[in-house]
Amino acid sequence: MEKISENNILDVSSECDVCVCGGGVAGIAAALSAKRAGAEVLLLEKSFLPGGLATSGLVTIFLPLCDGLGNQVSFGLAEELIKLSVKYGAEIDLPEVWKKDCPASVRAQSGRYQARFNAQLFAIASERLLLDEGVKILYGTSACGVSCREGKISHVIIENKSGRSAVKVRKSVVDATGDADICRFSGETIRNHSKGNLLAAWYYYISGGKYMLNMLGFADVTDEKKTKEFSDNLLENGRYYQGADASVLSEFVCNSRAKILSDILSRRQKGAEDLLPVTIPTVPQVRMTACLVGKTVLGDDRPFENFSDSIGIVSDWRKKGLCFSIPFSCLYGNNVKNLITAGRCISVNDRMWDITRVIPDCAVTGQAAGLAAAISSDFDLLDVTYLQSALKENGVKLFF
Ligand SMILES: Cc1cc2nc3c(=O)[nH]c(=O)nc-3n(C[C@H](O)[C@H](O)[C@H](O)COP(=O)(O)OP(=O)(O)OC[C@H]3O[C@@H](n4cnc5c(N)ncnc54)[C@H](O)[C@@H]3O)c2cc1C
Repeated sequence: MEKISENNILDVSSECDVCVCGGGVAGIAAALSAKRAGAEVLLLEKSFLPGGLATSGLVTIFLPLCDGLGNQVSFGLAEELIKLSVKYGAEIDLPEVWKKDCPASVRAQSGRYQARFNAQLFAIASERLLLDEGVKILYGTSACGVSCREGKISHVIIENKSGRSAVKVRKSVVDATGDADICRFSGETIRNHSKGNLLAAWYYYISGGKYMLNMLGFADVTDEKKTKEFSDNLLENGRYYQGADASVLSEFVCNSRAKILSDILSRRQKGAEDLLPVTIPTVPQVRMTACLVGKTVLGDDRPFENFSDSIGIVSDWRKKGLCFSIPFSCLYGNNVKNLITAGRCISVNDRMWDITRVIPDCAVTGQAAGLAAAISSDFDLLDVTYLQSALKENGVKLFF
């Protein structure tokens, strides 16, 4: 490939203790957590809406905080954010048994601790909370590079309507871009998902007075569970797209919108003549793109293991009774001392990726990453027991 050199002298347009790159659920949790730990926090978001896939991507199902047997396993910001997501009204509210004290046996019979939220209300509620707590948000701002000194990121390079400039980082950077962008810019080791992503085309429509989410390309099933429903709803005969390639992503969104249009026209032909789309996704609905290869690469072969550096517990949303603790060492890498990941780009193997990418897990890793970023600028040297006691004080359960 032809190469050119770019020689820019940049203004330092702002500074902060913790720079959170990406304002999806992981970034929201990281920013709140870092701010509550006393850091001055700048949240960079390339779109103009917080929430990422959960809001702009119309993924409005906050998967469970419980193990499916009636026991809650994820706490802290995961619980705060699920409640926030339905604060101003839900599509499907939290089951009543999770709103009050109930024995596990009753809860196990009454649905998992999950909710269906409204994307717009969750976005507005998150934005209000971030601002009320003093997080500074820069929308329309892409983190597009870094400057490093002595193994640490000293500046994040940004681009927005005001031009290209630098953010000075006093402490640490959280990569909550979903795609490990900041890891890539800083030379941290990353990898792409081996298979990529099936086409998804979720959209909301109104017809016959009903407001509905159509989950076209429903692919959230394990290999073992590939049922007829899965095959019927598989778009493009199961073609996979690599989510870390700009032109492939553009093709993905164009093909997704073509599916939405043909679905609308076919439903109208079948009798739903009044059907109108209400919202279509404004980001590619890709699940697994690029992630960190960190100190630890967490696999799905270690359920119920109490890692000594655990930062929280998550359940396997696909199977009842299966849970994992998440080690701190799968949030950061070997090369950049003050860079930590959160959300769907933490260091996991492909099978574990399908578990840790979901919304509650992104809140769990976001909370830990934000707190760590507020208290340290070298994660290898961080006293993990101190981090754990601060997480516990904030309601997080660390061990089984
Ligand atoms: C089709 C589909 C169905 C799913 N179903 C479910 C489900 O039912 N329930 C569930 O819990 N989960 C589900 N998921 C997974 C879940 O929605 C996401 O994995 C999760 O929301 C990811 O959160 P995140 O914060 O890690 O990343 P994202 O939501 O991707 O957020 C990243 C944010 O960073 C911003 N950003 C990216 N790069 C930059 C940059 N360089 N500079 C500045 N900003 C940047 C983006 O604009 C975005 O706002 C589904 C996902 C898909 C695609």
